[in-house]
Amino acid sequence: MNITATHINYYHVCKRKLWLFSNGINMEHTHDSVYDGKLLHENSYAKRNEKHSQMELQGEFGSLKLYGVVDFFDAKQKVIHETKRSDRLESAHSWQAKFYLWLLEMNDIHNARAILEYPLLRETTQVVLSSEDVLSLEHTVLEIKRIVTSNECPPVINSKICKSCSYYELCYVNEE
Ligand code: SF4
Repeated sequence: MNITATHINYYHVCKRKLWLFSNGINMEHTHDSVYDGKLLHENSYAKRNEKHSQMELQGEFGSLKLYGVVDFFDAKQKVIHETKRSDRLESAHSWQAKFYLWLLEMNDIHNARAILEYPLLRETTQVVLSSEDVLSLEHTVLEIKRIVTSNECPPVINSKICKSCSYYELCYVNEE
């Protein structure tokens, strides 16, 4: 089974979203957040984009294949840069960055760090990977496997983040 940074992100945002996405119900095309983030990075860091492109990372944990695509990796400084529109889901962004750092470790790039960049807020947040984080990520990928292979879709979470989720209409179709 393949696990990507998107699975890690969705696991921390909403288990139902993780299940829907992983079971082929993909509605991101009705939502512009993915395209938005890419565009934001390209516009905010145009000089960076002249010289560098995204970097793909791969790793394995047991039978699980792990994949990630980093916005920008400064190999000299060993710093991953991830551009985000808002810090509303910072915990999910942070775990996504830790997942990339874990993949770097698997590829013998040790003691790297990540910087989450919010150009619209003019803020940055630094992320590092601890040994406890690695244990947590190991647990997370096993939990992701359990959730997405279950026949049962997790319940709606009735959170304020639902209104900006691409699955909102699907989840709350009977609630108007
Ligand atoms: S609308 Fe809410 S409950 Fe439904 S998938 Fe999105 S975050 Fe989860």
